[in-house]
Amino acid sequence: MKQLLPLLCALALLCGCAAPPPEPEDGRLQIVAAVFPAYDFARAAAGAHGDVTLLLPPGAESHSYEPTPADILRVRNCDLFIYLGGESDAWVDTILSAIEPQGECLRMVDCVDLLEEETVEGMTGGHEDHDHSEEAHGHPGEVLGMDEHVWTSPKNAAVITRLLGETLANLDPDHAGDYRTAAEDYARELDALDGEFTAFFNGLPHKTMVFGDRFPLRYFAETYDLDYYAAFPGCGAQTEPSAATVAFLTEKVRDEDLPAVWYIEFSNHLVADSIAEAAGTSTALFHTCHNVSQADLDAGATYLSLMEGNLETLRAVMG
Ligand SMILES: [Zn+2]
Repeated sequence: MKQLLPLLCALALLCGCAAPPPEPEDGRLQIVAAVFPAYDFARAAAGAHGDVTLLLPPGAESHSYEPTPADILRVRNCDLFIYLGGESDAWVDTILSAIEPQGECLRMVDCVDLLEEETVEGMTGGHEDHDHSEEAHGHPGEVLGMDEHVWTSPKNAAVITRLLGETLANLDPDHAGDYRTAAEDYARELDALDGEFTAFFNGLPHKTMVFGDRFPLRYFAETYDLDYYAAFPGCGAQTEPSAATVAFLTEKVRDEDLPAVWYIEFSNHLVADSIAEAAGTSTALFHTCHNVSQADLDAGATYLSLMEGNLETLRAVMG
């Protein structure tokens, strides 16, 4: 029993249960966001009353990032930590297994209904599938676990933003009205964006998109009832599709006479290029808002502006 005491003391210190909530001198809420979409929604909801820090550096790969000691301290000391909550964000687990945050935590995957990550016809493999000779096609309908890329649907983005407004209002009741108003203003812009996407896709005779790339866009595709094909599911580390995948996607583009092969941000788009070349069409970028470049950030890019950019591209390519 005696040996337990030091451990319990250490745990009590780590837990910080007895400690008062962290209160910066100017009273501003300290909010830490693991990834760009969380940062964007929190920034909008916090308005003038909170400082929002983005942990994932611009341009970094969002699933393989290694947190720094400073990151860990920020998460420990903030009033609110917002993260994705998906199983592939191992670096967030590393932080949360090292410390107990003193403030609140909000997981984006807890805010909305989840979909399973799926292998659709033509995709190369599931997790860790490198044997291209045997794995000619993925197994259609194969379930690879919960898909965490919830923000890619503007509907979900609006839900999360409103929830953040409520969360901040509860954390800082003196400014509750301001948080709710700021969150509602942004959420209404996201609602309007959702309406524009709906109108656009409803006006198309064929809603097929082929991605010569990874596919973290399941929520977007479900929201607008798209037929989608991609080289890889979700956000795996695969970069080499099987020959069968390339052939399948190329034929799909040819058969349906698709105006573009899509690729996502930070991709070298070699796969999309080769499919487009073989099918005699062009490529186009769809920004998933998973992370942004430093240039995007400096230029004031928001989830809303990047998604409006996607809509413009869709109109130019498919409209
Ligand atoms: Zn991802």
